[in-house]
Amino acid sequence: MQIPDIHIHPDFSFDAHGSIAQYAQAASTMGLEEICFTTHLDLDPVRKEADGWVNINGVRFPSDNPAWLVPYLEQIEQARCQTSGLRIKSGLEIDYFSGVEDLLAPFLSAYPWDYLLGSVHCLEHLAVAEHSQGMAYLSRHTPAEVACATVELTLAAIRSGKFTAIAHLDYLKRLDVPGFRQSYQTALADRLEEVFRALVETETAMEINTRAINTYQLGEPFPGRDALQQAFRCGVRQITFGSDSHRPQELANSFLQAKEFAIQAGFVSVTTYQGGKIERIFPLK
Ligand SMILES: [Zn+2]
Ligand SMILES: [Zn+2]
Repeated sequence: MQIPDIHIHPDFSFDAHGSIAQYAQAASTMGLEEICFTTHLDLDPVRKEADGWVNINGVRFPSDNPAWLVPYLEQIEQARCQTSGLRIKSGLEIDYFSGVEDLLAPFLSAYPWDYLLGSVHCLEHLAVAEHSQGMAYLSRHTPAEVACATVELTLAAIRSGKFTAIAHLDYLKRLDVPGFRQSYQTALADRLEEVFRALVETETAMEINTRAINTYQLGEPFPGRDALQQAFRCGVRQITFGSDSHRPQELANSFLQAKEFAIQAGFVSVTTYQGGKIERIFPLK
């Protein structure tokens, strides 16, 4: 039984390659039982030029206009019809920032989404994981302040009640600036318990994201070994796996390594969702 890969970017995402049909075909060929498309939904008005758009068959379209959901959902439905033996779910990866809830309303009411991933990619409207924007942010803030701001936004995302799962909790560790990663992770570790308690209280899942292993070569997933152990000790039990694929050949990348991290931390199963509710529980062993 292969672990479902439920964090996938088809070419609706401006930074991804491969159509929904190509992904479905690749997943089927690999023998995956289940995938979920989670194209980016970036709605920050300040970042509209940078990432406030989607591609529809290669044509740029503003992401804040929900009309693009029609072809997105149609293509997912077509892939379902054309691919037997593969369960295909519909989702979004939503960039969380203060005030996004109101902007999200028409997107969330448009469809009974299976899986909504909440992500913190930006602080003060800067994509801090990107080198130049990270440097700009760090010219004004310490690594500990980066960790603190990440935690505050993550807690707000969890408590908003909008998300099935929170993606890549320690994502900003990928920022490659001398002296940053260790200080950030130490400061983050001091605050993660609050995050894990909030996940448990709100029955929100925690994603294990393998892009940290294969794309960013960090030697561990998001979240890393220590954070996974801390999450388990705090009572987190709902976990999901996501490759965060940006092209079909990245599907389920590094899942075997990530599975070992999860098992070592104490986790025994991963969950999948339909209509935002737990649908199935897959044993990790
Ligand atoms: Zn993300
Ligand atoms: Zn993603």
